[in-house]
Parts: sequence; C-alpha cells; structure tokens
Amino acid sequence: MKLANGLALNSHPSGRHFLQIPGPTNVPDRILRAMDYPTIDHRGPEFQQLGKSVLSGIRQIFATSGPVVIYPASGTGAWEAALVNTLSPGDTVLMCETGQFAVLWRKLAERLGLTVELIAGDWRHGADAQAIERALAADSAQRIKAVCVVHNETATGVTSAIPPVRAALDRVGHPALLMVDTISSLGSIDYRHDEWGVDVTVAGSQKGLMLPPGLSFNAISAKALAASKEARMPRSYWDWNEMLGANANGFFPYTPATTLLYGLHEAIAMLLEQGLENVFARHLRHAAATRAAVGAWGLEVLCADPGEYSASLTAILMPEGHNADALRKIALERFNLSLGQGLGKVAGKVFRIGHLGDFNDLMLLGTLCGVEMSLAIGGVPHSPGGVQAAMEYLKDGI
Ligand SMILES: *Cc1c(COP(=O)(O)O)cnc(C)c1O
Repeated sequence: MKLANGLALNSHPSGRHFLQIPGPTNVPDRILRAMDYPTIDHRGPEFQQLGKSVLSGIRQIFATSGPVVIYPASGTGAWEAALVNTLSPGDTVLMCETGQFAVLWRKLAERLGLTVELIAGDWRHGADAQAIERALAADSAQRIKAVCVVHNETATGVTSAIPPVRAALDRVGHPALLMVDTISSLGSIDYRHDEWGVDVTVAGSQKGLMLPPGLSFNAISAKALAASKEARMPRSYWDWNEMLGANANGFFPYTPATTLLYGLHEAIAMLLEQGLENVFARHLRHAAATRAAVGAWGLEVLCADPGEYSASLTAILMPEGHNADALRKIALERFNLSLGQGLGKVAGKVFRIGHLGDFNDLMLLGTLCGVEMSLAIGGVPHSPGGVQAAMEYLKDGI
C-alpha cells in the first residue's frame, strides 16, 4: 500500500516489527545488549571463562550431563555433524517424513551417500513410533545405524513424542543410534536428552534460544561418542573429536562466533532465571490461545492430532481457493507483521504463526489482531472473534 507521498507504508515503519515466523525469533534487548561488546582474543583467559561457562550452562538446556558441541553454523550444519561423526559410507538411516524439515534432513543424508529408509507421512501427524518399531523389527541384519526424528516439525506445527520412539528401539533391542532435531523446540518445549535416551540432539540458536541465527549444537551421548571412534564418514570442520579436545579447556579448534557466545551466555541465564518449566508452560499457553483464535475464525489447524499440537508454532490451513502468501503479504505491508510461509508441499496452503522465544500475551494478541485484520482485508472467509477468543483464554490465566 502506498501513502500519499508515494512511499510504501512500511518503508519507514514506526514501532517495532512483529517477527512472528517460527524462527528466527525476536531477540530480547537483554541479549542484544549482551552482544554489544568488542570481540576478544579467542585464545585468551577472558574467552576461556566465557567458553567454560556456556559449554557447561548449555547442558542444562538440553537436560544432559554429557558434552554439547557448539558450531558457528546454522542448524543445517548440526544436522550434517550428527551424521558424519557417527556413521560410515553406505550406512542406512531410518527417517520419518513429518514435513519439510524432515525432507531436508533426508536430502542431506542422501547427498552424504547414506541410504535412507523413509517412513512416509501425511504432514499432519508426527513420527509414528509403531511404524518405527516395525521397521526396526524387520531389520534383522541391523543395517539401520540411526533413527532420525524431528521433534518439532516447524513446517507443520506437529510435535512428535520422543519417549515412544526410544521405547520402540528398546523393545526390539535394536542398537541403532537415536538422533533428534530440536531446532524449533529446544528452550520452548519440554525436552530431555539424557532421560529420553537420545544419542545425538541437534539444535540451533535462532528459535527457542532467542539468539540471532549462527550457532548450532550437537548434544552427544556416551554411545554416540563411542560410535564416532569407529565412524568412517569424512569430516573435518564438524569433527567432534577436535572440538571436544579444545572444549575441555573452554576453547575451540577454530575461531568461534564470540559475539553469539556472549548472547548465548545471556540466553542461558534468562531461561534458567525464568525456570524451564515456566518457559514450557508459557509456550503451551500461547499455543492454546492461538488455537482458540483459529477455531473462532472457523479455520483449521494443520496438525491433525490434538496430542501432537506444537507449543512453539501453529500452522493454519487457508480455505480452498485462497492463497496463504497473499494473506502474508497483506500482513506485512499493512501491519509490519511477518508470518511464516508454507514450505514444500504445503506452500501457499498454510501460513504459520510462531509463538516461541521471547514472547508474551500482548505480543500474541497483537499478532492475532494483525492476522484477523488481514483475513478481513484479503476477503478470506472467516468468522470474526478470533482475537476475542484468545483474550478470553489468556485472561483466565493458567
Ligand atoms: C529451522 C529449522 C532447521 C534449519 O535450520 P537452519 O538454521 O535454517 O539451518 C532444521 N530443522 C528444524 C526443525 C528447524 O525448525
């Protein structure tokens, strides 16, 4: 939309941008300030203190007492690291097609020369632990070396329960490693690396951890570490061995993303101050309020199983004949609100509301107001009253 002076409405926006995509998420002022600091010598004593502090603090966020490796990379790098550190050329991995992120992880595995056995999915459900159990039971030759699951499928807003997947491996007595992508759930949705028996947990900085993009993580079990000693996939930059050697003293084998580590230090402090249980409860509450709005609009959530609703984002189906990207364009141009686009095979069919990270009730209501006004402007069939329904939900607490 153009103003009288010919400028686009948001060419000089006032107030803040509503970044309600499911990552990158809003970076809180406290973290921005913590990063506003000169770069220091990454081989000096000041850095060593920072390194030791973040390498130990991050373990609490993964709920692990084992090592967590931190890469200066996006989440995709940590996907690759999980595979190349533990597997050998030609190995088979079992993956579940929960949505676009599972599809991308699969593509990465295939490009690395791994054989992927895929459990197909309809993009409206999570990983099927029974199907995983059947696939493992059928694998009497134990060709499957790893089971890879996306905990929170960011393309669909579906969260897969991890303990049933662990139980499936245990019931069959299959020795495959369990790898879990928590890029859009860590620090937002309850997750326990040790207790759930996960071997490699993959995460990234720019979602629940409230940081800018640029860091990613592997939490590593003793079994995964042992597997890395035998694994023959070529690796250099991603090599755990080199990382863990340097990390023992708080250092890194190459230049770390020092500025992001200042931010990580602050993010860990903020999450622990709030208490992870409270952080998880806040996300569940905002997800429920969002669904109350969606229901009142008469629209449908993509996730088909209420037991699998994501707490960190909601994907919403557009009515037949209406394009989600046209709606997103209105929200951006008129209200300076970024909504998540549909990815892969649901492109144009869904839009996504990210309600994760540094987020509160009024930010959610502002977001839902922007969506409701955009639905009206775009002529998308809906009932008004979604914002009202969310208000009713939020004011009654929990
Ligand atoms: C965002 C995301 C990724 C990709 O991470 P990048 O940082 O973009 O490489 C992978 N998996 C999930 C579940 C994600 O949400």
